[in-house]
Amino acid sequence: MGVSEKAIERASKLAARYRVDKPGKFRLKDCDPDDTMGFGPEAKGRAAELLAAGVDHLADLQEKLYAQDRWGVLLVFQAMDAAGKDGTIKHVMSGINPQGCQVHSFKSPSAEELDHDFLWRTNCRLPERGRIGIFNRSYYEEVLVVRVHRAFLDKQKLPPKLVTKEIWDERYEDINAYERYLSRNGFVIRKFFLNVSRGEQKKRFLERLENPSKNWKFSLADADERGFWNDYMDAYDAMIRATSTRHAPWYVVPADNKWFTRLVVAAAVIDALEGLDLAFPKVDAAKLRELAAAKKALLAGK
Ligand code: ATP
Ligand code: MG
Repeated sequence: MGVSEKAIERASKLAARYRVDKPGKFRLKDCDPDDTMGFGPEAKGRAAELLAAGVDHLADLQEKLYAQDRWGVLLVFQAMDAAGKDGTIKHVMSGINPQGCQVHSFKSPSAEELDHDFLWRTNCRLPERGRIGIFNRSYYEEVLVVRVHRAFLDKQKLPPKLVTKEIWDERYEDINAYERYLSRNGFVIRKFFLNVSRGEQKKRFLERLENPSKNWKFSLADADERGFWNDYMDAYDAMIRATSTRHAPWYVVPADNKWFTRLVVAAAVIDALEGLDLAFPKVDAAKLRELAAAKKALLAGK
């Protein structure tokens, strides 16, 4: 299905609105989790149509990415619990050939993982060229949950003299260098913070408690983390300011309305892929002759 230039331009504008292009001026408290660009619930139907068209277009782009086998794409998702990471990943990637897409969730680190440097476990899971890799949580937990709960840092077995008050700034610096390295190797990085409000999170937790089909999603630990809300917001705020770069920007996506969240993420992924000049590899004259001969042989045989 063809997608008009206008639709692509609109996706690009929508994405740009939520991309952190001026990290020095960024303040999380200025971002409204309930923002829908003024559209009310009546826009949901139209948004679903746009998302469906976007998902189709994404599937086309991904096929070219795979065929061309030059660029790779890494999408990083971070959020408080119940912000909708899983649903967003599911919906936005729903049209994509599973062979071209790899999703990894990063939980509390294992003993083996703690025996390595903090980028090791995610590094093992980076996408190959031609693929879209999705990190559901990522090395950014190292400056989020680990910063909020110092006990996690203590478990990392770092030599004590390396653990100073500079550690978070050092980690930002290392992450930026790592992402620059990846981008210089042809890996395009886009990072999404799904910005849900504390009130909306409460509503979604209550839904998980009241709806038997959602009970499994509720964990007491998630509810405990609500108590650290402000610490998390401070950690996100500092992280986004320090690690939003041209080659690996953060998108702060309003997440109180799921239909809007999905639209913005789809638009940002389309925008990133559109920037790559993807095309099916050209078949050269020798290959064309080979194809013609194969066709002739097939037609001549039984
Ligand atoms: P779900 O939607 O299934 O709840 P989830 O991503 O929240 O998905 P959980 O198993 O509930 O998965 O939680 C994983 C937990 O692991 C999170 O609380 C996260 O902060 C924590 N975690 C991730 N990386 C690290 C890390 N490097 N150090 C310590 N904790 C981590
Ligand atoms: Mg969880």
